[in-house]
Amino acid sequence: MRFSMDALETDVIIAGAGPVGLSLALALESRGTRAIVFESNTEPATTSRALAIWSRTWEHFEALGLDVPAATQGAVAVSGARLYAHDGSSARELSELSFDDAPSQHGMGVCMPQTETERMLLDACAARGIEIQRGRTLKSAFDRGDATECVIAGAHGDQLVRAAYTVGCDGAHSTIRHGMHVEFQGEGLQERFVLADLKLDFGGAPQQGVLRVIWHAEGVVAFIPVRAGIWRVFASTGTVTGNNTRAVSLDEVMEILARRAHGVMPDGPLPTSAEWLSEFYVQERVASCFREGRIFLAGDAAHVHSPVGGQGMNAGIEDAMNLAWKLDLVRRGSARDELLDTYDAERRRAVERIVRSTAVALRLALGKPRVLARLRNWVVPFVLQSRGVRARLRDSVSQLSLSYSRGPLAKAAARAGKLRAGARFPNLVAVDETGVHCPLQSLLTYKRFLALGWEDAQHVGGAFSSIQSMMTALPERLRSQTQSQLLSSTAQGSGGMSMLHDRSGGAVAALGGGAGALLVRPDGYVAAVSHDGDSSDVARFLRDASLVNA
Ligand SMILES: Cc1cc2nc3c(=O)[nH]c(=O)nc-3n(C[C@H](O)[C@H](O)[C@H](O)COP(=O)(O)OP(=O)(O)OC[C@H]3O[C@@H](n4cnc5c(N)ncnc54)[C@H](O)[C@@H]3O)c2cc1C
Repeated sequence: MRFSMDALETDVIIAGAGPVGLSLALALESRGTRAIVFESNTEPATTSRALAIWSRTWEHFEALGLDVPAATQGAVAVSGARLYAHDGSSARELSELSFDDAPSQHGMGVCMPQTETERMLLDACAARGIEIQRGRTLKSAFDRGDATECVIAGAHGDQLVRAAYTVGCDGAHSTIRHGMHVEFQGEGLQERFVLADLKLDFGGAPQQGVLRVIWHAEGVVAFIPVRAGIWRVFASTGTVTGNNTRAVSLDEVMEILARRAHGVMPDGPLPTSAEWLSEFYVQERVASCFREGRIFLAGDAAHVHSPVGGQGMNAGIEDAMNLAWKLDLVRRGSARDELLDTYDAERRRAVERIVRSTAVALRLALGKPRVLARLRNWVVPFVLQSRGVRARLRDSVSQLSLSYSRGPLAKAAARAGKLRAGARFPNLVAVDETGVHCPLQSLLTYKRFLALGWEDAQHVGGAFSSIQSMMTALPERLRSQTQSQLLSSTAQGSGGMSMLHDRSGGAVAALGGGAGALLVRPDGYVAAVSHDGDSSDVARFLRDASLVNA
């Protein structure tokens, strides 16, 4: 490939400095792949769409080396949800869910305005020297076979930028998606929603947020914490056809609340102003393909859906985590191009499921037709009485139960306890001889794969030999990118490898006891399990992931 002297070059071009583009840039940088982010806006956004950052996303941020405790300090932890039905005269509580037992170090997650999330990511990018060029709009992207070329507009005219790959994180109206001629399959709803950020005092600890959703015959209202003392109200206002639109006003929102939230809204002075008022319409669409050659889509550029369950930004960041390590390995020649196809296969399936479930949740909330609403008010609380259903709902909303077990990289059969290839590496905690709790997730870093060997008291030495045979099975290049860790329920020798003593034996038992080894991908999903030195599943993963045997 020939480069002209004045063309800018990098490894990956990212269009869009939203939360997804910034997360992708950080993930690439942590593995040593350079990216330049081009952003149309000259300044960071000032309005906050996404509020909920679920625990799975915090786990990713931690693996990227962000200071999560500092970032979440002062944010409102999502501790539960209450569901009400309102018959026009009074509200009746249908269900109360507690999220206190979410299986993550980060609980269920926190609510934090998207502006703050973006600021946290921008600060991390600045600290790591990631180049973000503002006021630069990507006009077009071309796959030249051995590289991509993009035309970037700016104050001084157009510039050609070349890179091995280009990723469109340029939002729902993605220029890159349009240029790829990829279909954005799905539909747009005509239901109008209003939102208002209001000062309200629901009582209780201001740093603990219980979401409130009211199903009213007229439509749905939801209260989501923005930060201590400030709540975002969402309300549906009915279908809008043609040009029959009107601007949202505080009066309109307060009238809706007076009718639909009576008995749920806290007593006390009513808000006389809103920090933010807006309206929106829901689109439910997924791009028919997330990859064409060297050009990729991630985040809202690839999928949009209703804000029910706060899934969009979280799912987009998950896209970034899935894609970055694959781009890095292929760019370095450590894996063949086919690995990149698994991004589309894994992520599109996951996102289609989110679009389906949020579509069902939205229609349930809208309660149309009326006869279904009555049935819903009876069936949903009944179903939510089941602990298993509540746990599944919690883990699905927080994206903790996301799994790629049905994907192309998870054909291996061996298990470690309940864990198998494709599953998220869970929140296991080893307790050492001094009683200190060590969450095994803190071993994960996006920079490397993790090879974790474990053993119980009857299999001393088994963790070390399992890891050794796993490492021997890895190609040299991958071995150098893999950190080894032993986990033992005894305090005996470790052959010089880093060892965690799981005195309580709880973490070892959760891995099925005995001895074995796990290989975990940089994005925190199990790649393969090996027992008794049998590395056939490791070999299978290497083959399916097209990792080069060198
Ligand atoms: C009301 C509402 C509430 C929501 N609440 C939640 C929630 O609680 N949790 C959640 O997870 N999600 C939520 N979402 C969804 C969430 O806001 C989006 O999924 C998220 O912003 C997507 O991030 P992104 O980086 O993909 O795209 P965006 O945030 O849209 O960023 C795209 C960026 O690309 C830039 N850009 C566009 N075109 C170009 C170009 N050609 N060249 C250069 N730059 C370009 C744009 O200026 C923008 O900065 C909500 C959405 C709405 C509407």
